[in-house]
Amino acid sequence: LGSSLRGTMDKLRGKSRLSKEDVQEIVREIQRSLLQADVEVALVMELSENIKERALEEEPPGGTTARDHILKIVYEEMVEIVGESTEIPLEPQTIMLAGLQGSGKTTTAAKMAWWFSKKGLRPAVIQTDTFRPGAYDQAKQMCERAEVDFYGDPDGGDPVQIAREGMEATEDADVHIVDTAGRHALEADLIDEIEEIEAEVNPDLNLLVLDAAIGQGAKEQAREFDSSIGIGGVVITKLDGTAKGGGALTAVNETDSSIAFLGTGETVQDIERFEPNGFISRLLGMGDLKQLSERVERAMMEQQEAGEDDWEPEDIMKGQFTLKDMKRQMDAMNRMGPLDQIMDMIPGLGGGLMDQLPDDAMDVTQDRMRKFEIIMDSMTDMEMEEPRAIGASQIRRIARGSGTDEETVKELLQQHKMMERTLKQFKGMGDGDMKRMMKKLEGEG
Ligand code: GDP
Ligand code: MG
Repeated sequence: LGSSLRGTMDKLRGKSRLSKEDVQEIVREIQRSLLQADVEVALVMELSENIKERALEEEPPGGTTARDHILKIVYEEMVEIVGESTEIPLEPQTIMLAGLQGSGKTTTAAKMAWWFSKKGLRPAVIQTDTFRPGAYDQAKQMCERAEVDFYGDPDGGDPVQIAREGMEATEDADVHIVDTAGRHALEADLIDEIEEIEAEVNPDLNLLVLDAAIGQGAKEQAREFDSSIGIGGVVITKLDGTAKGGGALTAVNETDSSIAFLGTGETVQDIERFEPNGFISRLLGMGDLKQLSERVERAMMEQQEAGEDDWEPEDIMKGQFTLKDMKRQMDAMNRMGPLDQIMDMIPGLGGGLMDQLPDDAMDVTQDRMRKFEIIMDSMTDMEMEEPRAIGASQIRRIARGSGTDEETVKELLQQHKMMERTLKQFKGMGDGDMKRMMKKLEGEG
C-alpha cells in the first residue's frame, strides 16, 4: 500500500501548489499505510491533522516542489511520533529485558551482547527464565555464537537468586544484560517476579521487547510493565518479516519512551540501532525521506540568505515601480515560485484580493521571464528607470539588441504596467503590511 502513497505523490510531480483535495488524498494514503502497519488510530488521526494543517498553511520555499515540501512535512511529523533513538551510552551498565513469551527477549539479549562487544565493551547475559523449557540452552547457545559471557542455571531454580548469583558471577563484565521469563499473557506472578528481579539487579535501563506483529495489544503490556518496573525503551523484533512494527509506537507513546533496537533476523548479528528515517520510510513504504527533508531545508536557507540585500521597499510604496524593481522581483520569483503564491503567504492577502486581479496580472512564466531578462539587459539605465518614456524606435532597438522581437518587448512593458497597477491597489493597506509584502517579494520568507 505504500506504493499507492508513492503513486499519489508522483501525481503531484511538477505541481507548484497543492489543493485541499491533493492534501486530503495524500493524508488518506498515509492513513491507510499507517493503519496497515498497525499504528494506533488516535496517533494516525493526530498526525493527519498536523500534516493537513501545515500542508495548507506553509508555502514550499523557492526551488522546492509542492511534492517535496509535503514530504518534508510528513517526515517531520512522523519523527515527532516515532521519536529519536533511545540513548544507549557505551559504558558499564545493566539492562533488563521484559516482554511476553516469544517476543524475542532471549534472542535480543544475545544480539545486544554481540552489539556491545563490537563496540569494545565486555557484555554478559544473565538468563533468569526458569519457566520456559530449553530457555537455558537456547540462551547459552546464542551467547556462545555471539562469543559473550553467559550465566544461567541449567537446573532452573529461583529466578531472583539466579539474577543475584549471575551479577556476581559476571562481575568482570561491563554491561549486564538480564533476560527474563515471559508468559503467554500478563499474569500477576510474572509481574511480581520481574519486579523482584529488578529490585535485585537494579538496572539502568529496562527495555520492553515487542514482536513487530503486535497490534494494539502493545498498549496493555506497555502500561503493565511500565507501571511495575518502568520502561525506558522499546525493542522491536522480527522486522525481517512482513510486519512493520507500528504497534510498537503505541508502546512508545504509552511509556513515554523511545525505540532502542530493531531485530531483523534470527542470528546474533541481526540487530540494528533504531534510526527514525529508515523506520519511517518503511512504515510509509517510501524512499529516503530524511535526505529529501534536508534538501528542502537547504533550499529554505539559501532563500533566506539570498533575501539579505539592502533594498528597501519605500520607493515602491511611494508609487514608483521601475523595471529595475520588476527585475528584482523576477529574481525573487525565480527563487521562490510564482508571485500569486508569494502573495498568498502574506496575512490578509490570501485568496480574496488575489481573485479580484486579472488572471494574467501575476502570470509570468519561467520562459517569459528568461526572455524578459535578456531584454532588460539590452536596455539603458534610463530606460530601466523610466519605462514609460520608451518609444517605438527604442523598442525596435531593444528588440534587435536582445535578439528578440518587438512584440516581446511590448509584452514586457505591458507586464510591467500591470504589475505597477496591481501594486498600487495594495497602497490602501497599512504600511506594515506593505513592507511585509515587499520583503516577501524580495525573498525574505
Ligand atoms: P522470548 O520468549 O521472548 O525469549 O523470545 P525468543 O528470543 O525465544 O524468540 C522467539 C522466537 O522468535 C525464536 O524462534 C527466535 O528465533 C525468533 N526471533 C526472535 N527475534 C527475531 C527476529 O528479529 N527475526 C526473526 N525472524 N525471528 C526472531
Ligand atoms: Mg526467552
